[in-house]
Amino acid sequence: MCGIVGYIGPKNAYNVVLKGLQRLEYRGYDSAGVALYADDELKICKTKGKVSELVKKCEKENITSGHIGIGHTRWATHGEPNDVNSHPHVSNSGDLVIIHNGIIENYESLKKELTNRGYSFESDTDTEVLINLIEDVKKKENVKLGKAVQVALNQTIGAYAIAVFDRNKPNEIVVARLGSPLAIGVGEDEYFIASDASPFIEFTNKSIYLEDGEMAVVRLGRNIKVRKIKNDKLIEPYVQELQLSLDQIEKAGYEHFMLKEIYEQPEAIKDTYRGRMLPEKGLIRMAGIDDNIEKFLNARRIIVIACGTSWHAGLVSEYLFEDFARIPVEVEYASEFRYRNPIITEDDVVIAISQSGETADTMAAIKIAKEKGAFVFGVCNVVGSSISRETHAGAYTHAGPEIGVASTKAFTTQITILTLIALKLGKQKGEISNSQFHAYLNELDSIPEKIERTLQTNDAVIKVAEAYKKAKNCLYLGRGHNFPVALEGALKLKEISYIHAEGYPAAEMKHGPIALIDEMMPVVVIATKKGHYEKVVSNIQEIKSRKGKIIAVVTEGDTSVKQMADHILEVPDTFEEFTPLLTTIPLQLLSYHIAVMLGKNVDQPRNLAKSVTVE
Ligand code: GLU
Repeated sequence: MCGIVGYIGPKNAYNVVLKGLQRLEYRGYDSAGVALYADDELKICKTKGKVSELVKKCEKENITSGHIGIGHTRWATHGEPNDVNSHPHVSNSGDLVIIHNGIIENYESLKKELTNRGYSFESDTDTEVLINLIEDVKKKENVKLGKAVQVALNQTIGAYAIAVFDRNKPNEIVVARLGSPLAIGVGEDEYFIASDASPFIEFTNKSIYLEDGEMAVVRLGRNIKVRKIKNDKLIEPYVQELQLSLDQIEKAGYEHFMLKEIYEQPEAIKDTYRGRMLPEKGLIRMAGIDDNIEKFLNARRIIVIACGTSWHAGLVSEYLFEDFARIPVEVEYASEFRYRNPIITEDDVVIAISQSGETADTMAAIKIAKEKGAFVFGVCNVVGSSISRETHAGAYTHAGPEIGVASTKAFTTQITILTLIALKLGKQKGEISNSQFHAYLNELDSIPEKIERTLQTNDAVIKVAEAYKKAKNCLYLGRGHNFPVALEGALKLKEISYIHAEGYPAAEMKHGPIALIDEMMPVVVIATKKGHYEKVVSNIQEIKSRKGKIIAVVTEGDTSVKQMADHILEVPDTFEEFTPLLTTIPLQLLSYHIAVMLGKNVDQPRNLAKSVTVE
């Protein structure tokens, strides 16, 4: 995920683009860059860091004007965040320049072909491959830029919102989208391009939103022509009149970043497995695992180290690794692990999980594990973060920036990555048959759509929130794969609504917590059809007989629990192993709505920080 901005018109493009990038920083902020055409010259300035760093560098290098310009604030997916990998990227001839939001999945094979044809590459990005592919097509087929972009894009697999221009024809910008957003702002005698309307809302409220699979040539003095990338069909562009405030645009119309991020989960999970899971080929490929496969296959055990929500994702993975790959797993709080004298051998694989990749305790635990000779694998969201550099290998979750302090999409994408690893190892160890493996991949591929359906429980969740917003305490119960989900549900409620909540394995209730149950106590029970269903039903009866209020998360169509529960929240049916990806959604929504109803600061809860870089 990243932010892109472009401008063509009478204003100084530098001012428009840089201000626009600042507004888009919520989409990514590891590096930034700008390309401007002024005085018959293409000038590029880019740097690691925030847009404020870029402003300083541009001013120092005197790159501060142009009538056409494109800029980018990056959230790296391919290649660490550094000056060279920052966008814009230029083609080998120096003529074409591009900014890109998304992932070109087949960039490696395209890069090989282009290298064979004499192209060279400065960066590690997929984007630099794309701009050279466009150049190659343009030269070989002797076509205009728009056509070259179209032909090149038809050779790519992946997702993109791109803006490209040619220094020899600095009066047009070619844009295209598939999977990533792109809006064109239509002014009197000027055009704006951006990931959303926030960079141009102060200049014009007229916007054309490209649909997936569409492209346009944005040329001064001419109406916008939109075409289908696949078949060149002309589309009549629909010009919308926007009535949104800046704040609303940044949050894509949602009231809070947390809610936006909850709703982003279907896409975020697709981004996590995009290019890694190939259901039609029956394949999972992940460089960090493939390159170290012997370490994983020979692992005596896997030790997962993490904190907070990441620790819960680690607990979910314990079930997955043990079920799929039959490897023993221990899940440790990083803060405890680092101060014990843990017994670790060279046959151990340590998996460290952290959204930010900067968590201080996890970082310290990694150093101890390395000193003791273990192989350490990182699972982070932030590319180039300290943990991603300190570990021997790893996999990024590609969830995009998470701004809400309470983790939501980071959790489900971490589970997705860990599921991919566990399935891959299970297959390779012969613990999962070919047909089971295919079935798992196909089911995992359907999870984003099932999350979409789960999000439709929102209205039902609001009713539950209304009923229990005044509760002082709340219990969350789950068994098996959903025990960690109970812990995570309770943590979310504590974090943002400040209501005391505890998660327990459902059967543990009778060893203590049951003493708390009375008519004032809401109990959230995860009772999906598969996985200990009858046992959980018995637990529900135990609560009922003590007058506890039951909010049950059940599989669509469930009738038994419905009769006993005070409220039910339905999720679609799936394999038991994948249920946490669905059952966690209503629990996120529940804590969100309760916190909103209580007037709490949902995105920045008191006393909490997004990235815990202190002990
Ligand atoms: N894949 C591109 C990169 O890593 C773009 C990432 C983005 O969307 O920011 O540079």
